[in-house]
Amino acid sequence: MSSQPLSKTACPLPPLGMDALSLRMDTCHYLLRTLGAEETAEPANSVYTALAMSLRDRLVERWKNTQKKVAAESGRRTFYLSLEFLLGRAMGNALLNLGLEDAAREALTREHRELVDIMELEPDAGLGNGGLGRLAACFLDSCASLGLPVTGYGIRYSYGMFRQEIRGGEQVEEPDHWLRNGCPWELKRPERVRRVHFFGRSDGYHDAQGRFHQRWVDTHDVLAVPYDIPIPGYRNEVVNTLRLWRATATDIFDLGEFNAGAYPEAVAAKNNAEHISMVLYPNDSSENGKELRLRQQYFLASASLQDVVADWVAIHGEDFRNFAKHHCFQLNDTHPSCAVPELMRLLMDEHGLNWEEAWDITSHTMAYTNHTLLPEALERWSVRLFRQLLPRLLEIIMEINARFLQEVAWRAPGNTGLLQRLSIIEEGDEQMVRMAHLAVVGSFSVNGVAALHTRLLCEDLFADFHHLWPKKFNNKTNGVTPRRWLQWANPGLRDLVTERIGPDWKHDLERLRDLEPAADDAKFRKRWAEVRRANKERLAALVHQHTGVTFIRDALVDVQVKRIHEYKRQLLNALHVIHLYDRIKRGEANQVTPRNVLFAGKAAPGYFMAKRTIKFINNIANVINHDPDTEGLLRVSFLPDYRVSLMEQICAATDLSEQISTAGKEASGTGNMKFMMNGALTIGTLDGANIEIRDAVGAEHFFLFGLNAEEVSQLRGHYNPELYIQADHDLARVMDLLQSGYFNAFEPGIFDPIVHAVTHPHDPWMVLADFTSYKIKQREAADVWHDQTEWQRLSILNTAASGIFSSDRTIAQYNTDIWHLTPLVMTP
Ligand SMILES: *Cc1c(COP(=O)(O)O)cnc(C)c1O
Repeated sequence: MSSQPLSKTACPLPPLGMDALSLRMDTCHYLLRTLGAEETAEPANSVYTALAMSLRDRLVERWKNTQKKVAAESGRRTFYLSLEFLLGRAMGNALLNLGLEDAAREALTREHRELVDIMELEPDAGLGNGGLGRLAACFLDSCASLGLPVTGYGIRYSYGMFRQEIRGGEQVEEPDHWLRNGCPWELKRPERVRRVHFFGRSDGYHDAQGRFHQRWVDTHDVLAVPYDIPIPGYRNEVVNTLRLWRATATDIFDLGEFNAGAYPEAVAAKNNAEHISMVLYPNDSSENGKELRLRQQYFLASASLQDVVADWVAIHGEDFRNFAKHHCFQLNDTHPSCAVPELMRLLMDEHGLNWEEAWDITSHTMAYTNHTLLPEALERWSVRLFRQLLPRLLEIIMEINARFLQEVAWRAPGNTGLLQRLSIIEEGDEQMVRMAHLAVVGSFSVNGVAALHTRLLCEDLFADFHHLWPKKFNNKTNGVTPRRWLQWANPGLRDLVTERIGPDWKHDLERLRDLEPAADDAKFRKRWAEVRRANKERLAALVHQHTGVTFIRDALVDVQVKRIHEYKRQLLNALHVIHLYDRIKRGEANQVTPRNVLFAGKAAPGYFMAKRTIKFINNIANVINHDPDTEGLLRVSFLPDYRVSLMEQICAATDLSEQISTAGKEASGTGNMKFMMNGALTIGTLDGANIEIRDAVGAEHFFLFGLNAEEVSQLRGHYNPELYIQADHDLARVMDLLQSGYFNAFEPGIFDPIVHAVTHPHDPWMVLADFTSYKIKQREAADVWHDQTEWQRLSILNTAASGIFSSDRTIAQYNTDIWHLTPLVMTP
């Protein structure tokens, strides 16, 4: 044997088998030899872990090859920075993308285990709140599937999104310790640890050549330890990386600076450092002002940029001339926008570049995606907090701002109002850093996430910036990955589609258009309906198991699942449910179309109105489901703990998708796309991507209602909810029922805040303004449902038109317009 280290020798291992027998052998190996399970009765959990390890081996094989290829091509790369990655489960995705689904099923059958039961044991990786985090996960899948060299950077929260329980109709939050049994998909990379600074002060000094520099001194440091998760492409041998950082203390056992008596404090310091990656903030719009949240944001930005810069220096030394040519950082909302000053700091303080050189690189590598127009979601941090926590960063932000405002002043002399509006620093009782302004100034690209949203960004939120730099702004309408959201979530529909139009749509979702003629084929429609009925029965069983509610067989499945938020208007849906109930009670039962109305979603723990809405829905459901008059006509349920793995089951079984936000408020939505892909019809407002969904499927195949964004803003200031109540007898009856306490007989007054909110002239969401047109469209939908031929036809046409909502299309556009990456081509 030579004395070469093992890793330097040519790898003597043969490629891993991709057949059932190989998979079974490896799974047994891990089960018996690594996990030490008892041969007679190994716990199902160990079977899950052993199968996951076998799959991970096959991913790692391709991962190494991809990394080698990326290094050899040394081309441009993108780094997707996000505080959230809502991944859900990994096993099904790995099986689908590696093409090992049948092999795994067969391998387990010999163990007398059902693959579906094993997969249910995997906890969701819930490292995100909702749409923004799920988008990041869909994007990673599309990047890998398109062979684009994109690395995700995020935080490895010990506790992800809380688990929601419903007790007495109210949300109860339980911690989500998703790592309890370990995560078999991740690989710890302790050798790539990074050091992140906090506190201290900025210090000026002269180097040996007499040049003046700043450095950040007397800092309290935290270590960032990376854990890598493989992101497989769809059957293309590519495996990209999601690198998640965990915070730990620098050196807990270096007690030099403590006297012996301070040992417990020294160990406690470790705990303090680890708080940074302890828990995901459970608010899908904002967490302004929380110091821990700012620490998380800087921790992610700093560790990730250090990682990228260190890789560059390892190859190119201190020559950064081509750095911008090779790197792009996509910022998922303003959450990681500390990356702008942090890259400046690294290039200047740690690598000796001057301001102009560093700014040239920074402003040509950063790209910012805006996700919301809601004012409460626009991040602002107090200058005071910044100065204390990140003094050197604040200094750089101030300098960026001074130079930027100087430029504006040259272009628009004397316009102090403009300077104030554009400034990164907001003046007032307390100075604030506007993170969105920092991101816009520091980026070469700013994009919105649907056509309407981008238009409103340019016309309203960023109008002054748009005027200054019109070419910076662009639209990238969101998408969802058709692997998880169609192929995996709906295998019955997948196989039926493939039988009809062949398999090409699996690589190019726009080919689903080939399904259009099938909409007029009675035999095909029948099979379409059968697949969907089977999905609905599975969902009904799930709803029964978790809520005790028995769905009405073959009734319309009407679904609103998403974060609970006033702008999403779950209340409008709830008022309509009360109206349907009222119709039944007043003797119109024979005119009411049987429906199962399903709600699910989490409320931010501190969001009073959202939590009260959950209670409201549960009380309504309780009254309706227990009233014998509703038998066979109306069922209402609130399914607890909405999450990715639940949505996989729900979207495949939905007839009517509720996308009813106040126009101008939902940036894009992506739930709407998952439903459409699976053949649901949409009832919705002209908001976010609903507009593009309606354009794609045709106006006559979409249930449109409500005010549009312009009408909403025109109505503001003279909105009078009373007028709408007086004008619609049905609405007046609903309000009367509410005010009589019908749904809170033993809980007096608890829904007063809801009645107050919707009857208030300042209701920003204008719930009652849209009630009547919503009610009418709901009737129209119910009428179409009676014509099952027509409904199934429209269902097929919705799937056929959903191709542009593949995140592959979105990512291809990011690449053409922003990233300019060359796809990798891997040979098996
Ligand atoms: C798709 C998805 C969302 C986003 O839904 P919207 O209806 O677009 O708000 C949120 N949470 C989960 C678990 C999802 O799968």
